[in-house]
Amino acid sequence: FDQLDGEIWMNGSFVPWKDAKIHVLTHGLHYASSVFEGERAYGGEVFKLREHTDRLIESGRILGFEIPYSADEIDAATTELLKRQGFADAYIRPIAWRGSEMMGVSAQKNRINVAIAAWVWPSYFDPEQRMKGIRLDLAQYRRPDPMTAPSRAKAAGLYMICTISKHAAEAKGYADAMMLDWRGRVAEATGANIFFVKDGAIHTPDPDCFLNGITRQTVIGLARRRGIEVIERAIMPEELSGFSECFICGTAAEVTPVAEIADWRFTPGDITRRLVEDYAAEVQPKRAAAE
Ligand code: PMP
Repeated sequence: FDQLDGEIWMNGSFVPWKDAKIHVLTHGLHYASSVFEGERAYGGEVFKLREHTDRLIESGRILGFEIPYSADEIDAATTELLKRQGFADAYIRPIAWRGSEMMGVSAQKNRINVAIAAWVWPSYFDPEQRMKGIRLDLAQYRRPDPMTAPSRAKAAGLYMICTISKHAAEAKGYADAMMLDWRGRVAEATGANIFFVKDGAIHTPDPDCFLNGITRQTVIGLARRRGIEVIERAIMPEELSGFSECFICGTAAEVTPVAEIADWRFTPGDITRRLVEDYAAEVQPKRAAAE
């Protein structure tokens, strides 16, 4: 992936894609002092760009560093990057990390670096599978207690358990894994939030130890706009047999129906389909003033 053509925005300027490099003694690599975002542009506009940029800056603060660019500067760089890359629909990956000036756990004075890359990433999961519903395994690892890890930050370090869990799921033929939290409650997928449907209402876990995703918040708003009740609460895995539909959502995954989680079965139905469609419409740039 490091040999593509095009450009990457890095520390204030556009550099050729192949030259956007860091040193092997980078603090972010050794000690996970790295935070990032995942964004999608539709029709040339990044959906909820400012929310993502604000979360990036806040994630850095949670890890104890200040990103040396304002939200306006980051947003302008993102927009300019998309233009230079010539992308209308794309995935955007901003990342900020502590540099390589000093070695050691602390290295407080190391430069905070920022880069933004964009590429065409049509769908996280195979599009044909989408309405059939994907299959999730139950993850081995659990989301940590917020007293154990900074769970509100979109921090690289928190993805270690996600990658391991996803690899284990893929090795068994699943698309992804559902993670429980440290209390044994249902939490989320490895890179997306999770929702269930029962008797016409939507149930989703309280986001108290994982990201309250921007997509999650959007989908809750879309459901309520349709008059569908949304209940945020603690959900235990034993309850899964009582849900008829299930879907996951995130910037990359968008709204993806789920057909199986380990031994539990779901049938993607009307509510899931409506939210897949409503989300697809919502992300399109709002051009007409009449809308
Ligand atoms: N949880 C995890 C672990 C994620 O990586 C993501 C994707 N950023 C989400 C939830 C969903 O967040 P968002 O809707 O803001 O993309």
